[in-house]
Amino acid sequence: MQELLKKSAMEQSKALKNKEVSAVELTKVSLDRIKTIDEKLGAFNSLTEETALETAKKVDEKIAKGEELPLLAGVPLALKDNMNLVGSKTTASSKILENFVSPYNATVTQKLLDNLVPIVGKANLDEFAMGSSNENSAFKKVHNPWNLKKVPGGSSGGSAASVASCEAALALGSDTGGSIRLPASFCGIVGMKPTYGKVSRYGLIAFASSLDQIGPFTRTVEDAAALLEVISGHDPHDSTSLDLPVENYRASLNNDIKGMKIGVVKELVKEGLAPDVEKAIQGAIDTYKSLGAEVVEISLPNIGHSIGIYYILATAECSSNLARFDGVKYGHRAEGVNNLLDMYCKTRAEGFGPEVKRRIMLGTYALSSGYYDAYYKKAQQMRRIVTEDFLKAFSQVDALIAPTCPNTAFDLGSKTEDPLSMYLTDIATIGANLAGIPAMSVPAGFDSDGMPIGLQIMSPQLTEAKLFNIAYKFEQSHDYYKQLADI
Ligand code: GLN
Repeated sequence: MQELLKKSAMEQSKALKNKEVSAVELTKVSLDRIKTIDEKLGAFNSLTEETALETAKKVDEKIAKGEELPLLAGVPLALKDNMNLVGSKTTASSKILENFVSPYNATVTQKLLDNLVPIVGKANLDEFAMGSSNENSAFKKVHNPWNLKKVPGGSSGGSAASVASCEAALALGSDTGGSIRLPASFCGIVGMKPTYGKVSRYGLIAFASSLDQIGPFTRTVEDAAALLEVISGHDPHDSTSLDLPVENYRASLNNDIKGMKIGVVKELVKEGLAPDVEKAIQGAIDTYKSLGAEVVEISLPNIGHSIGIYYILATAECSSNLARFDGVKYGHRAEGVNNLLDMYCKTRAEGFGPEVKRRIMLGTYALSSGYYDAYYKKAQQMRRIVTEDFLKAFSQVDALIAPTCPNTAFDLGSKTEDPLSMYLTDIATIGANLAGIPAMSVPAGFDSDGMPIGLQIMSPQLTEAKLFNIAYKFEQSHDYYKQLADI
């Protein structure tokens, strides 16, 4: 039965339809696996057993009646613990929200429930999704299933580790500067950030609202396409949600990519790449050539500024978004206070971890009068320039490729004392958030220590179908995605 968990979500779905297993059985196997191995991994903050089994029961009832099942019905999923699910705690891995219970369902959650996808638990993350290694969780670290001494990547480290270790076939994450793609690459799975506005953020705890986007983690490209179909679509509750029809991404997965033009981002493959990552990128270039695509070098001349831009804009937006956690409206409230101001200060001092505090202070500074023009305004102008670089690139090519990260997963603890080196991990992923374009990481090999390497593919806004197609063709040319962490 455990073998079933190693199958892709679409295969699990097929097994349910063929009555090889019931949805309740499958959900129980997933929960059992979590209970057995998660002590080592730390991927889950909490389990939502009751909701999961209730949903699974509905699936079995439908099967018994011979009714058609919605897409991905009955396939266990891990939900990043910054998205609301009624009846569960939504902690954002922060002490300030440690006991906060979701008052309503996030739109993505509601869509999953409508499709009868059992949500087995809430996945660990960096506090408020701020981090690249999942070491900023207030509760516990997440370990990489390929090597427990290494980080899984962040901030959606729990989501990635749960899928890579076959605790669940599906997970959702959020990506503000790479938080889906980076952990996907470190954990050897597929992670996808859709076009800004494709997926509703209603019920997602906001980090940096002009950048945040929810997306899928899976072990195959087809599964990611299916999960995006389930969660995307217009939502009047999110003013940035695009009013466009839900697409069928799976229909064009296997289209021929002969004649397509693929650009290798010059600036992201030139310097500072780990040799094994460089080799993997060369391997990807060769694969695309052999598939009949034309591969050319493309420059994104300002991409080197993206970290500087991001750490001004994201911190500015987070300083504003996190102002609501004041001990009055949500979560933790300090005791033994003298007056209202004292209560705010003590609550926030006790409730937020060091990285979150650092970001709030940086962001407040960047927005303060006298510095606004020099930092925030400049960063906004530079964001525009980076976006224009992407637009120019896409006037020449169908898609861009680059490493998801210049290196593979690093050792736990090795960067925690040096925030700047941690921030540099995001050099290849932030650009897509600044430009609002879809981007994904697909397994592209292993380094000499057996740690996974991710290939990042980016395409113009709203060309998800093409992106999945290009990713699928690469995936199917290798068996990297079939290799599973031994845990
Ligand atoms: N690692 C980046 C940060 O720390 C990105 C986080 C994210 O995408 N949520 O902000």
